Amino acid sequence: MLRVCFHCFLLIVMAGAPALAKPTVEAPRSGTHADFLRVVLDLSEALPYRIFTLPNPPRLVVDLPEVGFKFPVSKNLKMPQVKALRSGLFAPGLSRLVFDLEGPVKVLRAAVLPPNDRGLHRLYFDIAPTDNKSFASKEARKALTSKKPLPKAVYASAVPSIPIADRRPLIVIDAGHGGPDPGAISVSGAYEKDITLAFAKILADTLRRSNKYRVLMTRDRDIFLPLAERYAVAERADADLFISLHANIHAKSSIKGASVFTLSERGADSDADAAALAAKENGADAVAGAASVDQVAHILGDLMRRETMNLSKNYANRLVGELAKETVLLRNTHRYAGFRVLKSPVVPSVLLEIGYLSNRTEERLLHQKKHRQKISKAILRALDSFFLWQEAVNRS
Ligand SMILES: [Zn+2]
Repeated sequence: MLRVCFHCFLLIVMAGAPALAKPTVEAPRSGTHADFLRVVLDLSEALPYRIFTLPNPPRLVVDLPEVGFKFPVSKNLKMPQVKALRSGLFAPGLSRLVFDLEGPVKVLRAAVLPPNDRGLHRLYFDIAPTDNKSFASKEARKALTSKKPLPKAVYASAVPSIPIADRRPLIVIDAGHGGPDPGAISVSGAYEKDITLAFAKILADTLRRSNKYRVLMTRDRDIFLPLAERYAVAERADADLFISLHANIHAKSSIKGASVFTLSERGADSDADAAALAAKENGADAVAGAASVDQVAHILGDLMRRETMNLSKNYANRLVGELAKETVLLRNTHRYAGFRVLKSPVVPSVLLEIGYLSNRTEERLLHQKKHRQKISKAILRALDSFFLWQEAVNRS
């Protein structure tokens, strides 16, 4: 006769039950020792990890399986050798902490300790200052990892299955930033990544409801995506237009208004502000602790690039016209700068800076659903006229 003990039965049932909650991580703490600094992360359960450093600027990265962080995305730590900390979802199933360092460090050791009396498992790693040369060496790039490996970061390729008969133009909406990259931080402490995502969702909804467009979002949750991957999504899906949404900050809090960017030709940026903004936005990969690699998937003639660029400019001008009916614009509304996210040679691309998070009035507006809908409708009207014009050109 088969006898199953009650405890075994319970274990089997529990193992079969779906995971109810993500493991959690508490804010890191540190202890100074004679020769090193020990950084401790309290985990709700023992987790696999990967720890490595990155140069230019010096950073230390801790990768974990997808976790819930019990502290803000962008956090100033009172920790020696560390300037700031960011955290968030880096790829599906993979969370990341990025420590901005005061200078080059070496990771001496790392381990997960058995649970303490609060039931928390402690992941610790010891760091010590090192020289620039050894920090830049190949040896220093080697990660310290747990025995159990972490999943590799694979970005979700959001390519929809599209019925062949569906000939409606495909619009890719890109909500700027995400995960450990919060983007700009507003006067009231809101993150650009949350504002762009909220806007992107309303824009996607507006376009879908119009029934005239197919819509694809590069991200629909709080997750990081490298800049090159964002336009690669549009290229793989053979999109007709790529719209990247951002919100800006300026040292002068009186500055406000929307602006539309297209890629500058050979670094001919409109103005110093535009160039500085592009440099900041182009740093998004570094902020999230990712290597920046542009995908060179196409070897295309100048003619093709020029055609794409002309279409981008054409849409940008229509968009400026429609936005002018709804909101305050920067005086120099259509500007050019070397944004990496706009570098697809095949998909016409624009970047919309919806407004300034450093201006209190505008920040309040950017949080309003009504304002988001108004901007979305302006984008839709600009799309309508853009594609009508294209149809007419193709017929003639
Ligand atoms: Zn941005």
